[in-house]
Amino acid sequence: MVYSHSQVQLYKQCELRYAYKYIDRIPVPAEASLHLALGTSVHGALEFLYKEVQRLKVPSKESILEEYHSIRNEQITKIQEENKRSQLDQQQVADFAHMGVEYINWYYSTYHPFDQSIVMSTEEKVFPKLDDDIKFRWQIDRIDTQDDTFTIVDYKTSKRYPKDTDETFKDQINLYGRAIKQNYGSKFKKLIAKIVYLHLRNEIAREVTDEEMEKTRIKYSSIIQEIIKKTQRRSNGDKEAFKPVQWYRCDSCPFKMICPLFAHNYIHDEAVNLDDMKPTTIKAVIDEMAQMAYEIKRLKEQKDSYAKILGNYAAEKGYKRLYGNENKVIIGKSENYSPLPEKKNELESKLASENMLDDVVDIDRFKLTKKFKEHELDYDQYQDLVKKSVSITAQRPSKLKEKEIDEYMDIIGEE
Ligand code: SF4
Repeated sequence: MVYSHSQVQLYKQCELRYAYKYIDRIPVPAEASLHLALGTSVHGALEFLYKEVQRLKVPSKESILEEYHSIRNEQITKIQEENKRSQLDQQQVADFAHMGVEYINWYYSTYHPFDQSIVMSTEEKVFPKLDDDIKFRWQIDRIDTQDDTFTIVDYKTSKRYPKDTDETFKDQINLYGRAIKQNYGSKFKKLIAKIVYLHLRNEIAREVTDEEMEKTRIKYSSIIQEIIKKTQRRSNGDKEAFKPVQWYRCDSCPFKMICPLFAHNYIHDEAVNLDDMKPTTIKAVIDEMAQMAYEIKRLKEQKDSYAKILGNYAAEKGYKRLYGNENKVIIGKSENYSPLPEKKNELESKLASENMLDDVVDIDRFKLTKKFKEHELDYDQYQDLVKKSVSITAQRPSKLKEKEIDEYMDIIGEE
């Protein structure tokens, strides 16, 4: 099976969006944008540059810019065709065009005459193998060689460096490295990765080690195994195998109107006839339930605060019961003991030595439920030993955001 890095990234960001796009193959408008066009045009111009260098020529800056503008024009035409209904902001188009020109100007003056090393290939397609069945497909911007060293060169147009905690780029380079090692392992001793940040006018290089490549291979292989298992479950009818994960890109997600997190806000209200209630609508029930939940929360907080005041009063006076005009309360004391996390093992052996371990250790219901829910335990093999009960309830009411109200108004056509 062949996977791409963007597939895995999408899965890590939102499993359900991955499933809609790559398993259900629901068609979406091509994800063309000015950012993407900028990246494609600059990459294309630098590819042109190094193809010339491979022919032992040094192209002029004008010819590279010409190539850049020609690719960019094609990209803009494509975006315009895909967004027929909305006009592109011409100032934005000009700003992006200018950025690309600046990147090429900086690149040209920094690296001219482009003889830092020998260019072996540009935009080479590679298929790193993660294990016997799983392959990745990729295109490496450039591969250079010098003596016993190979260098992977990757151009980025991003406006900021990735955070040190963000492993995405590191993983990407480690997988490139794996592909190069699989293809040319006997031709080099050292492998360097060089990221050229065109906007930040800098390059960052590091050695790619076998240890790092192996670590990334194991990580990606296990993510892909997980995807394969969930794909199997989805094709067997388990619609919840891939979870929706709300994140900042939900707003631009092409599947928002069918995603179970948001779809209900895009349909008209529906009548519902509940047993002991007058006919009403789903939206009215939601709002009423939310009101009840807010009131219960407020009353609970108030009740807890009264309980504390009365408890303190009773403790001070030495009472075990307090009497109102129509009600009375019992003053209770609750004690809780929990193991110190760092002394858990010591506590277990001490209780075991006093034959009391079985009295206090119980199966943790929440942890057991989690194991079944996450399919680490197979329920079919345990159904004689555990009781399964499922209840589907509405929970955690919260106020709608203005944007959510507007989205619904758009659907029902109200101002
Ligand atoms: S709307 Fe958000 S949660 Fe739903 S599929 Fe798209 S990205 Fe995932």
